[in-house]
Amino acid sequence: MNAAQSLSYEFFAPGRIVFGWGRRAETGTLAASLGRRAFIVCGSRTLFATGVFDELTQFLDDAGVQSVQLATVSREPEVDDVDAVVNSLREHDAGDGDLLLAVGGGSAIDLAKAAAALATNRHGESVVDFLEGVGRGLKIERPPLPLMAMPTTSGTGSEATKNAVISSYDPPFKKSLRSEMMVPNIVLVDPELSVSVPATVTAHTGMDAITQLIESYISNRAQPIPQALCISGLKLAVPSIVAAVEEGQLRGPRENMAQASLLSGMALANSGLGMAHGVAAALGVHCRVPHGLACAVMLPVAMRVNREVRTRELAELGRLFTGETLTDDADAADAAIETIETIGRRIGIPTRLSEIGVQAEQLPALVTSSRGNSMSGNPRELSDTELLDRLKGML
Ligand code: NAD
Repeated sequence: MNAAQSLSYEFFAPGRIVFGWGRRAETGTLAASLGRRAFIVCGSRTLFATGVFDELTQFLDDAGVQSVQLATVSREPEVDDVDAVVNSLREHDAGDGDLLLAVGGGSAIDLAKAAAALATNRHGESVVDFLEGVGRGLKIERPPLPLMAMPTTSGTGSEATKNAVISSYDPPFKKSLRSEMMVPNIVLVDPELSVSVPATVTAHTGMDAITQLIESYISNRAQPIPQALCISGLKLAVPSIVAAVEEGQLRGPRENMAQASLLSGMALANSGLGMAHGVAAALGVHCRVPHGLACAVMLPVAMRVNREVRTRELAELGRLFTGETLTDDADAADAAIETIETIGRRIGIPTRLSEIGVQAEQLPALVTSSRGNSMSGNPRELSDTELLDRLKGML
C-alpha cells in the first residue's frame, strides 16, 4: 500500500467458521442449519478407507440430514467434472432445503463451489460459459445452493474464497468461476482430517498456503486486514511445515498448517496473489504439475522478481522468519527468500522446471497462459520477454 493513499478498503470472509481438532463431530448440526439433504463431494478415497466418510454420514443422519454421495474427485477439477456434477444435481431435483457438503482438498471444494453455483444459475450450457477470460462472460446472478466446506488439505484456503478454479487440458486453460456469493456458508476446519494426507501432498499444499500468504502480503492490491492475517498465518506455517511433512501425525503442526491455510484463503480472496500463482496455473494445464508443487517451485523466483519493489515488506518477513533484528532491509529481504529456499530443500521442492517435466518448447505457451487474475496482483509488471527469460533461467 502506498503511504500517500488514504485508507479505504472492504473485507469479506465466510459468515461462519468453526475450527478445532475433532470438531467434525458437529458436521450434522451445522449442516442441519443449512438444509435437510446434503449432497457430498468427497476429495479422497482415503476418506472412505479410514472410515471418515461413514462417520460424517452418521453425524448427518443423527441430525436428521439425509446424505447423497454426489462425487469423488482426487485430482484438480475439469470442465466435464463440473458439468457432470451439475447434471447430477439437476437429476436429483436439487433446490430448496438442499446443501452441498465438500470434504476434501481444494479440488473437492472447488468442484462443490462451482456445482452449487451452477445448480441455481441455469443460464449457461457449461461451466465454461462462466469462466473468466475464456467463456461467454456469464455471471452468477442467483445465490448458489448453500455450501459447507470441510478442508482436508492445508492447503489452498479455498474454503474461504469466492472462486472455484477449473481446468481444461484441450484447449489448455485453468480459470476461475468467481462470485462473492460463492464463499461457503459454513467452514468447518477439523485439522485431524489432514493427518492422513501423504507427506508429499502435505509439502506441496503447505507451500501453496505459504505462497498465498506471501503473495497476498506483497500484492499490489494488499490491504491492512489481509496483511495482518498473512503475518499471523506465516508465524504459524513457516515454523510448522517441516514437522507437518516429516511427522504428519503430530497435532500441533497439523493445526498450525490448517489455520495458516484458512488465513491464506481469507487473505487472497481480498488481496489477490502474484507471479507464482500466475505461472502455477500455466504449469498445471501445460505440464500437469500439481498446483501446490507449482507454487512451491515458483515462490523463491517470484520473491526475487519483486524484491526491488517490495524490499520493505520482504524485510519484515525476513525478520519474522529469522527472529533476528537485521537492521539492513536488503539483508532482511534476502533472509526471507533464503528461509523459503531452505524450507524447500528440506521438504524436497525442486528448483528447476525440468525437474517437474517442463520442456523448453513449452515455455512460450507457459508465458501466455500465466496471464490472468493472479498475475494481475503481482507488484511488478513483467513483460512477456522478461517472464520468458526468467522461466528459461529456471529450466
Ligand atoms: P487436491 O484437493 O487435489 O488434493 C491433493 C491430493 O490429496 C488428492 O489426490 C487428494 O485425493 C488427496 N487428499 C486430500 N485429502 C486427503 C486426506 N485427508 N487424506 C489423504 N489424501 C487426501 O489438492 P489441493 O492442493 O488441496 O487443491 C488443489 C486445487 O485447488 C487446484 O485445482 C488449485 O488450483 C485449487 N485452488 C483453489 C483455490 C481457491 O481459492 N478456489 C485456491 C488455491 C488453489
